[in-house]
Amino acid sequence: MENKKLVVGNMKMNLTASEINKYVKEIDKKNYNEQVVFCPSSLYLPYFVGKSYKCGIQNIAATDLGAYTGEISIKQVASMKIDYAIIGHSERRAYYHETDEVVRRKVELALQEKVKIILCVGETLEEREALKTYKVLKKQLTTALKGLDIANNKKIIVAYEPVWAIGTGKVPTNSEIEDTIAFIKDIVSAICGFNLKVLYGGSVNDANIAKLNEIPNVDGYLVGGASNSVEKFNKIIEVVVNQ
Ligand code: PEP
Repeated sequence: MENKKLVVGNMKMNLTASEINKYVKEIDKKNYNEQVVFCPSSLYLPYFVGKSYKCGIQNIAATDLGAYTGEISIKQVASMKIDYAIIGHSERRAYYHETDEVVRRKVELALQEKVKIILCVGETLEEREALKTYKVLKKQLTTALKGLDIANNKKIIVAYEPVWAIGTGKVPTNSEIEDTIAFIKDIVSAICGFNLKVLYGGSVNDANIAKLNEIPNVDGYLVGGASNSVEKFNKIIEVVVNQ
């Protein structure tokens, strides 16, 4: 598993109960291994636990257990045997005002449990056009990771998701992704003293995955919209897992 690529589906707030039942029936026929991670709406997570594949929650509370209506604590996530938690997704940062400091707090809480962390970072279009991509990534990574006691480096995976590429059909070139991921890996190893896996996310689909999968330093993909279609997601998984 160490050097195998991951394919993570961030299904966001999609699919109703009948649709998710059909979805789970279909994916259960595929015998996916632990390289495949499904992150459905939290309500549906119990359908995904204890299977041949893995599952993750899309967000966690920035607080421990307590009187926080509507929130889900990482302790609850761990107690439900959920494998991963996405932290710092750009939709959380943009729509729910999650700052780098809030993201850091969530990482700290998640590190106390056996749940693996998928830490999302990425620049907006405005930041990219102002040539601030590396500066933004460095700040996001430094705030989230600096000084943490990360005893087990396999617990954290970084997902590079340019905000302007999410749900837009726009994708950076392979060499842009390769360069940015190399930068992220350098920063992470300077901060933590070791390397972390880095995924790419942003408009990955069944039509562009073969080309994206040629990038040498990518450790997997975080797939949003396309993961809600069993057919499309299966094609992506086949390219990455059977490479
Ligand atoms: C995401 O939201 O993590 C994502 C990558 O979305 P999409 O694949 O739809 O761009």
